[in-house]
Parts: sequence; C-alpha cells; structure tokens
Amino acid sequence: MPSSRPQWSKRSLTAQAMGHVDPITKAVVPPIHVATTYIRDEDNAYSSGFVYGRPDNATIREAEEVLAMLEEAGAGALLFSSGMAAATAVFQALNPGDHVVASKVMYWALRSWLMTEAVRWGLSVDFVETDNLDALRNAIKPGRTKLVWIETPSNPLWTITDIAGAAGIAHAAGARLAVDSTTASPFHTRPLTLGADIVMHAATKVLNGHSDVVAGVLAGGKADAFWEKVVSIRKMQGAILGPFEAYLLMRGMRTLHLRAGAQAKSAMTLAERLSAHPKVARVLYPGLPQHPGHDIAARQMEGGFGFMLSIQVTDGEAAAIRTAARVRLWKRATSLGGVESLIEHRASIEGPGTPCPPDLLRLSTGIEDVDDLFQDLDEGLRAL
Ligand SMILES: *Cc1c(COP(=O)(O)O)cnc(C)c1O
Repeated sequence: MPSSRPQWSKRSLTAQAMGHVDPITKAVVPPIHVATTYIRDEDNAYSSGFVYGRPDNATIREAEEVLAMLEEAGAGALLFSSGMAAATAVFQALNPGDHVVASKVMYWALRSWLMTEAVRWGLSVDFVETDNLDALRNAIKPGRTKLVWIETPSNPLWTITDIAGAAGIAHAAGARLAVDSTTASPFHTRPLTLGADIVMHAATKVLNGHSDVVAGVLAGGKADAFWEKVVSIRKMQGAILGPFEAYLLMRGMRTLHLRAGAQAKSAMTLAERLSAHPKVARVLYPGLPQHPGHDIAARQMEGGFGFMLSIQVTDGEAAAIRTAARVRLWKRATSLGGVESLIEHRASIEGPGTPCPPDLLRLSTGIEDVDDLFQDLDEGLRAL
C-alpha cells in the first residue's frame, strides 16, 4: 500500500522527533535504550536487527533518523562520539597516498589533526582559500585528489565557499566533496542537495543547542563503497555516540528551528549595530552586504545567515582581551551554538600559524534579548 503520510515540513517532523511513540506505554518521549547486548533467536538469527552495542543502538537510530531527514541524506546519518570523531572517520576512509584539498580557514583542531595525524596516515593535504573556486581548482591533482573538504561559513572568519561550485570541481576530478556544515546547520543549508557527498556536523553545537552534549554526525548522499567504509570505521573503532547523549541531542533538536531562526535574527541585528560602533573596526558576518561571500551565502543559506559573527576591535589584541573580560551577559568561553551567548578571543586558543587576526573576538549568538546582548558588548567595548 502506498504510504499516506502527508508531506510534513522538516520543522514539524523535528519538533516530534519523527513522531515516534513507544509501542508498549504509548509514551510520546521514547525510552533510552541502554542494553549492550541482545537475545539471539533459537534459529541463531538476530531478527530484531540488533546484536551488540558498539555498532548500533535503537536510541542512536532514532536521533539519526531525524538528522537524515533534516539533511535529505539518501544513505542516512551516523552519530559519533564527537565532531572530531565524525570528521576524522571520513579521512580514515581514504587510502595512504590519497590527496586532500581542504579549506585554509577551518575548525582549528581538525586543521591541526590534518597537518599531523593525517600525514602519518599517508595522506597529503593542501590547504587553500576555498572561497576562491579558482584556487580550489588549481589545487586539485588529477587522479590523486580523492576528497575536497570545505567548511562554510568557516571558523572564525565566516568566509563562504560555494558548495555547488566546489562539488562541480571535486566531481570533475573524480573526488568527493565533504562539507563541515556545523555553523550553517540544516536549518540554513542542506549541502547534499547542492551536490556534496558527505555532510559533517559537530552536533555538540547548534544541533544540540544546550552546551551539554559532545557529539558528531555524518550524513551521506549515497550508500556507496566509501560510505560503507565510514560505517565500518565507526563500528570497528567504537566511535559511536552513547545512548544518553543521543537522547539529549534528540531533545535539543526538537527546538532547532526556533533556536536557529531566533539566533540568526539576533546575529544579523548585532552585526548591523556593531558595524556602526566606534570601537569596532570590522564586523565579519555573511549577512552583511559588504561581506565578500554575501551573494553566495544568500543563494545557499535560507532563513538567515547563521548565529556566528566576529568583530575586530579598533585598539588591537589587548583591547580585544579586555573587552571579553568586561562583558557580563556574554559568557567568556569556547564552543558555539548554545542558547547562551559566548565570546572568545580566538587567536590565543588557535595558537601559532592561525589565520585568525589577534584583534578578533568570536561571538556565538544565543537566544537572550538582543538589546541586552548589544548593551553588554557596548559597555565592554566603550570601557576601553
Ligand atoms: C566544534 C567544531 C568541530 C569539532 O566538534 P567536537 O564535537 O568538538 O569534536 C568541528 N567543526 C566545527 C566547525 C566546530 O565548530
């Protein structure tokens, strides 16, 4: 019989975590499955589909179903114990000798892993400004480049890479395109629909949204041999997320659309107001028309331009650090995407070799009153 389920929107399906109801109790909140092992049938089969806790878990599957729906992922989604565990699984699915092109401006810990561990693994990695498609095209080594890894908007300068353009270049060379879409979230962008092969999120960030879970996810466009390799890496290396974390993530994701929409709206307001601030030299936010990636962002992001922005203060590094010390509503901490707004002097975290300017403060906009957020920053900046 054909399915008669109406075409409910992503927002409706996410709010109800796909509408799962516990068959025994009819509870609208599904139970957390904690078992590590499952009874085998008398004929030796595993008819439930579950064998052991390391490869798979029913609570994990429920959260993955929401993520696969959000990303329109043909191959489904895979949850990992962190964003880094998810990202590194993609690189580990490559073979020694393979060449990778990655964004120069990207999440610092992953860039550092690529420069050290990935090289020990036998990969060669070139970092280019992928917001410039000519630079990306020129970095491809025909026959050797197997993966293009981009982050957009990219940490912490919020440069924008054209996902469809990058997919065209990767595919013409026989390579795959993977996108770290953590700061866009599926609320703004669905890279698989723009031609990407794999999407990665630090679900630690806006997907969970409450700064109380470390998790990562990969969503795959096609269940091809490469994807199967990634599935096997998660299973064999034991990188699956725990069931409690998957439950918390699912709870957090129910409000993704409300949070991400409100956070992006506040970030836009802050970007506009900070652009006119006498102590701010530059605001980096793709929603501003003067941002170099604005037109591409307007094409590949919907519902706003994300919750992340950075400011460069007029009086240099020490003034930036003093501003972060003075604010009270903004919390001085790393990470991003939570309901609470966070401020961070980024260059001192990233260390030597970072493309991050020393006078830059990274702002993760939460859901507080935007007038309070502006006033707190204004007071911190003016005290200089
Ligand atoms: C946080 C983050 C990661 C890493 O995620 P973890 O869960 O901390 O391992 C990767 N990419 C981006 C853009 C991030 O913000």
